[in-house]
Amino acid sequence: MSVPAIAVKNLVKTFGDSTVLNGIDLDIAQGQVSCVIGPSGSGKSTLLRCMAFLEESTKGTIAVNGEVLGFAENANGVRERLPAAANRRIRAQIGMVFQQFNLWPHMTALGNVSEALKTVHKTNRKDAEERAMAQLAKVGLEGRANHYPSQLSGGQQQRVAIARALALNPKIMLFDEPTSSLDPELTGEVLNVMRDLAAEGMTMVVVSHEIGFAATVGQQIIFLDHGKVLFTGSPQEVFKRPRNPRLEQFLDTYI
Ligand code: ADP
Ligand code: MG
Repeated sequence: MSVPAIAVKNLVKTFGDSTVLNGIDLDIAQGQVSCVIGPSGSGKSTLLRCMAFLEESTKGTIAVNGEVLGFAENANGVRERLPAAANRRIRAQIGMVFQQFNLWPHMTALGNVSEALKTVHKTNRKDAEERAMAQLAKVGLEGRANHYPSQLSGGQQQRVAIARALALNPKIMLFDEPTSSLDPELTGEVLNVMRDLAAEGMTMVVVSHEIGFAATVGQQIIFLDHGKVLFTGSPQEVFKRPRNPRLEQFLDTYI
């Protein structure tokens, strides 16, 4: 048995008085696509943000490929923040794509994809741009390398955002509603890029209301409700068989 790509144990996240994640236990398997579904406000984004260490958890642990990220209990059972260098190194295994593409408007597609390689990874310009071009080609945008975000469609911008994340060579990709701000006719091109990535064996966690994608590409479906995992199972178990009443009620609004 290989170690899970991400192991979440008793994860709690509170904002002030409100408990947004309420004891999440979850394993994200290596090389699989795990789809997180659930009503608005159920904690999906917060869960992904905690996994990527963009948000600090309140309790519990998150381990990435067997290494605890962010906070751990010391020998006396006291929760401690782990060293920044270790957190940075572990966090670098994770790439994330957001609903809003967050591209730099003053940089071309090539600039957006190569920037972090140059500034964070200290890759020289030529190598960074070669690598960025290869990633743009992978998302079908080699012909748009010199276009600025304003000259690209929403679907193309999101594909640039995916290329940007992939350029940093992550082991795990997290997607938070990657097609939710796109016109319906543009969602397909983004989902196709994600399908290709899944077929290559990338470990992916996808929050999406695209139930068709979850049913055909997802290998594990995770249903979140009020900050708890109410159900995990295969697409078959979630979509075809008699199921949890809350899940059924949720699916009735989407299918
Ligand atoms: P989802 O992605 O499933 O819609 P979120 O994770 O965005 O849910 O939010 C879950 C709950 O946490 C919501 O009630 C939201 O208002 C709250 N929340 C999220 N981020 C913050 C924050 N930074 N401060 C306070 N409350 C937050
Ligand atoms: Mg969300």
